[in-house]
Amino acid sequence: SRNTYRFYSDIASRKNLEDIRLQYDLQHALSGGQLSIYYQPKYDVKSHHIVGSEALLRWNHPELGMISPARFIPLAEDSGLINEIGEWILESVCDQIAAWQQNGIYHCVSVNLSVRQFQNGNLVDVVRNALQASEIKTNLLELEITESIAMDIDKVLGTLIELNRLGVIISIDDFGTGYSSLSYLSKLPVHKLKIDRSFIRDLMSDQSDAAIVSTIVSLAHNMQLKVIAEGVESEEQLKMLDNYRCDEVQGYYFSKPLPLSEFELMLEPANKYAFYERVNNPDAK
Ligand code: C2E
Ligand code: MG
Ligand code: MG
Ligand code: MG
Repeated sequence: SRNTYRFYSDIASRKNLEDIRLQYDLQHALSGGQLSIYYQPKYDVKSHHIVGSEALLRWNHPELGMISPARFIPLAEDSGLINEIGEWILESVCDQIAAWQQNGIYHCVSVNLSVRQFQNGNLVDVVRNALQASEIKTNLLELEITESIAMDIDKVLGTLIELNRLGVIISIDDFGTGYSSLSYLSKLPVHKLKIDRSFIRDLMSDQSDAAIVSTIVSLAHNMQLKVIAEGVESEEQLKMLDNYRCDEVQGYYFSKPLPLSEFELMLEPANKYAFYERVNNPDAK
């Protein structure tokens, strides 16, 4: 606000300098091989079998070390570089799924999408090309869009309908953190809700969080959607989510995001997973 502007200006300009530096360095991160993809497994609540994984970006900066995507994704969105990075991650993940597929492992991987990729206008082409070049079963690719993207229904509906026609799985990430009505859910072709970590953290102690989680699970199932909880760190949380009939979980309790070489060790044939059948195919009404 006007009253506090002066108070924060110092911190703000220092932060800006670092932003500018990181944004500059990021331009060379992709070509310099500094970006890599970690995989965090997702588990069936009941069987504890791996049912898929999420691809998460990592930036190993030559001087500053590992930088969190929470820090650099907004900078990449700001500069527009997210489109190039987003294309790279989609292609890389599809190629990886294809390599597993050739070994008889049908493993579903989700990729996070940025709102900027929707605004760019070529997202459907990028996804179609990645699917065709890799020749993967299309339901082995899942796209995670945040609730805030999904809420902007007028802008994203057309693109989501086209993505759905390509045969990929679509899920709503960070579900429950938005502030709009739920009406958008019935209009969008989505298959899965991902309950935000903030509701899982205090699940055991906060009764309203527990009520929200249980309600989201019911909502999802009533709409023929799958539901996954992120940020599961304890056995108690896992048991409670099982009681609530949540389908899948992801979190440090089972595994942190892992580099490919470590993650692949978890994908032995014993863990081989039957990918999603797209039971519901809700084209927009
Ligand atoms: P997200 O998509 O909601 O991903 C979940 C985040 O929670 C990841 O953080 C993951 O490492 C972390 N996490 C998983 N399990 C636990 C747990 O049990 N406890 C706690 N405390 N955290 C857990 P990460 O990898 O730092 O990613 C942060 C965000 O950056 C992601 O949130 C996503 O919004 C964004 N992001 C990551 N990779 C990409 C990408 O390739 N493209 C885009 N557009 N965004 C990405
Ligand atoms: Mg995600
Ligand atoms: Mg999330
Ligand atoms: Mg999140």
